[in-house]
Parts: sequence; C-alpha cells; structure tokens
Amino acid sequence: MITTKGYAAQAPSAPLSPYTFDRKDPGVNDVTIDILYCGVCHADIHQAKNEYGGTAYPFVPGHEIIGRVHSIGKEVARHSVGDLVGVGYFLDSCRHCSSCEEGEEQYCEKGITPTQNARLKDGTVTKGGYSNTIVVDERYVLKVSESLAPAGVAPLLCAGITTYSPLRHWNVGKGHKVAVLGLGGVGHMAVKFAASFGAEVTVLSGSPSKRESALALGATHFVVTSDVAELKAVAGRFDFLIDAVSAKHDYNAYLGLLKKDGTMILLGVPPEAPQLAAFQLIARRRKIAGSFIGGIAETQEMLDYCADHNITADVEVIAPDYINDAFERTLKGDVQYRFVIDMTRLG
Ligand SMILES: [Zn+2]
Ligand SMILES: [Zn+2]
Repeated sequence: MITTKGYAAQAPSAPLSPYTFDRKDPGVNDVTIDILYCGVCHADIHQAKNEYGGTAYPFVPGHEIIGRVHSIGKEVARHSVGDLVGVGYFLDSCRHCSSCEEGEEQYCEKGITPTQNARLKDGTVTKGGYSNTIVVDERYVLKVSESLAPAGVAPLLCAGITTYSPLRHWNVGKGHKVAVLGLGGVGHMAVKFAASFGAEVTVLSGSPSKRESALALGATHFVVTSDVAELKAVAGRFDFLIDAVSAKHDYNAYLGLLKKDGTMILLGVPPEAPQLAAFQLIARRRKIAGSFIGGIAETQEMLDYCADHNITADVEVIAPDYINDAFERTLKGDVQYRFVIDMTRLG
C-alpha cells in the first residue's frame, strides 16, 4: 500500500479537510505518479455536496491531474520515470466495446471508471487528484509537454478536452460563427480553441464586466444575455452555439440565435430537464447535440495541439488549505477561470 495525503469531504455538508489514505500497490501495467497540480472542476463541488447522489465518503475529488512519474510497473512501455504526465476524468474502461475500440472510451458501453468516486468491483472507491500520489494503468495516462506551465495544463484534462472534442467532431473552423454561452472554466477553453481553429467567436454572458476578458481570450464579439436588444441583434447568426452552462436556463432563448442547420452543443448538465419548443428546431432545421469529455487518443491530440500552439488554461494557483474558499468562489464565478491546487504544498 502507498500512504497518500490528500483532502476529502467526510459528509455532504462538511468542508474538505486533510485526509490520509492508502493507494493500492501498483501492478505491472501501472504508473505511480507524484501529483504536482490538480484543477478544481464544478463536478468536484457537486459531488462533494452529493448533489448528483451516490457520493461515497470520504470523497477525494480531482480529475485534472498533472504529475511526474515516480515509478513504473515492469510491463509499462509508454511512460518513463521522471516524465511529466496527466490523468483526466477517467482511469479505466472496458477496453473491448466498439466505443473503446474506436478510441472513444468516454462513451464505453460498460461505463468508464471515473477518477473520483467510482465504485470498483473489489468494493473500493476511486480517490482523485486532491492528493499527492495516484496509481493509474499506463494506457489511461497522458504525456504532457515540458514546454507549457504545468499548472495551466491541468484544466486541459477536463475543461480543455470537453471543448476540444466537440469542436473537432463538428469540424469547427474558418468561416464558422461560434457562440459560447457561459464564460467559466469550460467556456473560456471553448473560446480559446474555437478562435485557434479559425472561427469567429462571440461570447454570450450575463456579466457585462466580462467583456474585456472575453475579447482578450480571442472572442471578437460580446453579447450581454440580459440585454434583449443585444440578443435580438444576433438572432439567426451562429453556425454553432457551445452551451457551457450547468445552471438552469432557457434553451429556447438561445436556439433562436442559430442560423439554418445550426447546432447547439450542450456541455453542462442543468439539474432540471429543460422545456423545449419544437418550433425553434423545426423552423430552421436546427439541432441540439451533446458531448462528453474525449477519448484517450483525442485527449493526447489536444495536449499536443496545446503544446504546439502555446495554449493553456488561465488559472489561479492555490495552496491545498484554500480549497473550501476556492469552492465558494467557483460557485460564484469569482475566478479567471480555473483554480488549480499546488499539491506539492500538502503539509
Ligand atoms: Zn471536470
Ligand atoms: Zn468499453
């Protein structure tokens, strides 16, 4: 067993607190990683508070992990001791279904094994990256370039791939007008990638104060969603609308911004099922689609693209004992745009 230090929620209403636990001994295909940084994703907060149901306590969040390889099993071929590596939303899948064989493990028909809060067959529960070490099968470990600041790479493992994958799937690029709804951790990566791929990007936000930072990220237009006249001015304008909002909101208000054959891509999961006005789809043959993170090969492609194009997330690096304040500020949208925990500062 590997003694591991981390931070855990002990109950839905409890703040995260220091927690020491054991990782399994690494197998022949496993990579043991000393964690350097871990991003703070909205999902961590919802699961810590058991808002999706099914959280097993003590709950150690964290699925935007960057670290260095500490040791490798004797069958490991893809990674070497000392390599900078990443681990994202999941650390296993069935490996045999058609989705796994196509390299789209995120849609595994048997279900992926999330990095945090997954119940394994042996009864243990996976514990995430708010900790100083993790053991992962080599095929679910990503290579990370030494050329980028590693703290800014951490959020690419969830927020980054969540946006890169749909933009690639729908071949978004030059000549496309893309709207991004919601400028948080996920939304700001959507702006960076869409602009990098050559699209014209408009940010739709409820906060007029975000105008300048949206333009700095690569957007060329900014629309305040509470301003009826501003919204009306962009009706029927967009080929794609990336919806990165997880709170309850009215899809119909935004469907009208799509042009004929336009596609609204849902990335956030609002707690309540939305009402849809069918006419908004029918009138201009519009589509609503969804997308979930990305497969291992595509996540590697995304990390390599970011290294080649010098793309990282905008982050605020924090010490582990700031995590409860970071949760509060994330819920208020008071971060540009992702908190990343420096795990080397764990006690
Ligand atoms: Zn996430
Ligand atoms: Zn599978």
